[in-house]
Amino acid sequence: MAVGKSRQEIPRPLSTEPNLLGHCLLAMGSRNYVPTRFTNRTPTIIMTTQAHYPIGTPGQPWSDTDKATWLSLQTRKRSYAEEVLSKIDRLRDRFDVIEYDRLDYASDGMYPLFAIRSRDWRDDLPCVLVTGGVHGYETSGVHGALQFVDRQAADYAGRVNWLVVPCVSPWAYERIHRWNPDAIDPNRSFRENSRAPESAALMRLVAPLRDRFLVHIDLHETTDSDESEFRPALAARDGKPYEFEVIPDGFYLCGDSEAPQPEFQQAVIAAVAKITHIAPADAKGQIIGTPLAAPGVIYYALRELGLCASITNAPYRTTTEVYPDSPRATAEQCNAAQVAAVCGAIDFALAQQAVAAA
Ligand SMILES: [Zn+2]
Repeated sequence: MAVGKSRQEIPRPLSTEPNLLGHCLLAMGSRNYVPTRFTNRTPTIIMTTQAHYPIGTPGQPWSDTDKATWLSLQTRKRSYAEEVLSKIDRLRDRFDVIEYDRLDYASDGMYPLFAIRSRDWRDDLPCVLVTGGVHGYETSGVHGALQFVDRQAADYAGRVNWLVVPCVSPWAYERIHRWNPDAIDPNRSFRENSRAPESAALMRLVAPLRDRFLVHIDLHETTDSDESEFRPALAARDGKPYEFEVIPDGFYLCGDSEAPQPEFQQAVIAAVAKITHIAPADAKGQIIGTPLAAPGVIYYALRELGLCASITNAPYRTTTEVYPDSPRATAEQCNAAQVAAVCGAIDFALAQQAVAAA
């Protein structure tokens, strides 16, 4: 999430110990690009004053040639078929699996897109949407969504209709990247006539149910690689200066400033806090440059930013941000935190409905 939103100006930290900057170069082959690792658990800030991404010309947006250079450096690092589709296949005997679209990425192949939904869909039940892998590199979003289906979704039979889209951006899942092959961020592209086919396909899937959803929870991570790779890449792509941001150590939520639902957000935080730690605010009372509204909660204008959690009119909507690089969180905890967030969101919404009906 923490990449490329508008944010307050943050003073550029000074370089003090450049030799300590060893993290996640992601095959960039840089001359003067310096990968970094920053979190607010390491208060000694280390930074080059002239961090320059190795593609493009500083101050100028990428040309098509620059984008092609970037694309040529992206390699397949893991398998969507082996890690994701195999898990989806094992759910077919219990739930309905729908291939809702395909992405044709030429020499990189064809990527079928799948949604899983509850059987015995009933028009009188509220609907829940869970999306993961909008950012393909955010692994617990994908596997947390699948884990919810496998272990928890049956508990909601007869209470909600649920639709889970576990891996919206499979090309990026394989490359452990944020963008699609056109160097477009799907999670800034949930708009009419979207240029990102990943976003457009999901919007087409959801459109008929847009007003039927009670809950939409979109599963993400904020990672160290946001600062070491993705935000520098974004700044370079757009010809803008790169501004350092502290990565928060812990889980947080990004709600919709147009529909804040603070009690809902707090209920989700409380559910996740049983699994993993919640991110504290930084010294400015902020998380990634945005003032903390409540413990672990910030708000964005989701629709204005073209974010996935804006694609329905669900009254209860939010974006999870798991921090997988924490020394205090395992991969299993990250998946479990996503599942806890989903269950906490559904449970709160159903309880509110019950109160309203009483
Ligand atoms: Zn994300």
